[in-house]
Amino acid sequence: MRIVAVAAKPQVPIHGGGTFDVHRIYCVGRNFADHAKEMGATAPASPAERGRPVFFLKPNDAIVTANDGGEVVVPYPPGTRDLHHEVELVVALGQDAPVGVLERGGAQALVFGYAVGLDLTRRDLQAEAKAKGLPWDIGKAFDASAPISGIVPAEAVDALTDRTLTLDVNGARRQHGALSDLIWNVDDILHELSQLYRLRAGDLVFMGTPAGVGPLQVGDRFRASLDGVAELEGTIAPPLASR
Ligand code: MN
Repeated sequence: MRIVAVAAKPQVPIHGGGTFDVHRIYCVGRNFADHAKEMGATAPASPAERGRPVFFLKPNDAIVTANDGGEVVVPYPPGTRDLHHEVELVVALGQDAPVGVLERGGAQALVFGYAVGLDLTRRDLQAEAKAKGLPWDIGKAFDASAPISGIVPAEAVDALTDRTLTLDVNGARRQHGALSDLIWNVDDILHELSQLYRLRAGDLVFMGTPAGVGPLQVGDRFRASLDGVAELEGTIAPPLASR
């Protein structure tokens, strides 16, 4: 008998103790109107006009968590000259969804907790794919493309929709947005996703970014926060191939 063994499964620490095994990473595109506009897309004028969310996935081993020093170290990825930050709320599911469509009223029961993460993007490759009508995968789904804070259990988070996302790079504010401005909220997104995939315990959902996305360079220090809930600090390190 021959066995091919894979590396340890991706895990995220839980605030207060414990670990969260990552099953899948779903991501939502264009979930803040101001970011949709800066990307050249038209934002819906009202909920009735919002149509369907944009979804894509990252591999679960794209997760990067803090080292023993509390820092997330992200190597600059290959194949790009335009690595971009997108600060996002991340929703962590603690239970399998029932088979079939998940109603909005049942969504919160699946939520284990929340984190703040970066949907790192090879913007040049994404732009090229968009222009050619090709899939975004190589622009979005790559090694170390999903740095994330620890997960804060939902029972410790009140008034989520009153909170804001911020990202500072080298001490300067780059992104700031209110979760009340999400076009599709958590209940909406889980309802929509459930029509396309069976949601499972261990799934993470990156909920989309506010305006202000921009480039990251080797040596940059970033600090992302979901105010009062979670923080993520780290650096962009030289490419692995150059070491
Ligand atoms: Mn994003």
